[in-house]
Amino acid sequence: MTTLLNGKELSEELKQKMKIEVDELKEKGLTPHLTVILVGDNPASKSYVRGKEKACAVTGISSNLIELPDDTTEEELLSIIDEQNNDDSVHGILVQLPLPDQMDEQKIIHAISPAKDVDGFHPINVGKMMTGEDTFIPCTPYGILTMLQSKDISLEGKHAVIIGRSNIVGKPIGLLLLQENATVTYTHSRTKNLQEITKQADILIVAMGRAHAINADYIKKDAVVIDVGINRKDDGKLTGDVDFENAKEKASFITPVPRGVGPMTITMLLKNTIKAAKGLNHVER
Ligand code: NDP
Repeated sequence: MTTLLNGKELSEELKQKMKIEVDELKEKGLTPHLTVILVGDNPASKSYVRGKEKACAVTGISSNLIELPDDTTEEELLSIIDEQNNDDSVHGILVQLPLPDQMDEQKIIHAISPAKDVDGFHPINVGKMMTGEDTFIPCTPYGILTMLQSKDISLEGKHAVIIGRSNIVGKPIGLLLLQENATVTYTHSRTKNLQEITKQADILIVAMGRAHAINADYIKKDAVVIDVGINRKDDGKLTGDVDFENAKEKASFITPVPRGVGPMTITMLLKNTIKAAKGLNHVER
């Protein structure tokens, strides 16, 4: 029988707990604050940013949105990041990606203070995650790990297969699972015989960005299936990279889309912002 990994439900529970923590911090005179920077008017980015602001409000984290026009120069954005880095009332800074073509994304990520890098994309934080040090873990992989742990899904010695090798999802989730003593295989668009590999997975993480590319034929019986994909269908509704209806017959645990990994991603952003406010990611610049 399949058990649904309901990210929406778990994220509501976690937000309730975080609200209590934020209230306690406020009583001590500390209000966690997140600055979100949005450049341009990409509709998907706007919707993600709205979701992040709403989630902050629910937990009592204060936030502000800096909206910049599409033709903002790299220098202008760098100068705004610098102001936020130097503002002691700002604990977390998030620059919504993707950025317009005139900007070098890596340069922008490098400019955010690692102590305020709540997305966990700065190379210092990526390096710390790689070596297993305490740091800001990127929100999507952090959300996936939290979901697996919430159901006591054992990872030790399990074969985890990751489809996708992006810096924000595929690579970091593989590292985190390795640290949990899973045996990790990365696959990507140049992988040969993908199905042969995924059928060996006890835990299958799918982060391809290809609607319904993975069905039951790719899944070992009783595997845990995590669908990270967010794809918009012709009717405007969201769907995952996994053919849920078909795959659920074989999986022991499976995430839906929507209400799966997506809400957990936002929730872990809140967790990282609270961590930043408490000054728990000590990094020198
Ligand atoms: P990227 O486009 O950066 O990476 C996609 C990866 O999938 C690449 O590594 C690519 O391989 C691989 N891939 C593509 N096609 C195939 C294929 N046919 N066979 C095997 N591998 C393939 O995407 P992201 O990692 O940023 O995002 C992945 C998905 O997750 C997207 O749908 C995105 O919207 C969603 N997402 C969801 C989040 C959430 O909160 N739920 C957060 C972030 C992303 P190669 O490297 O060789 O090109």
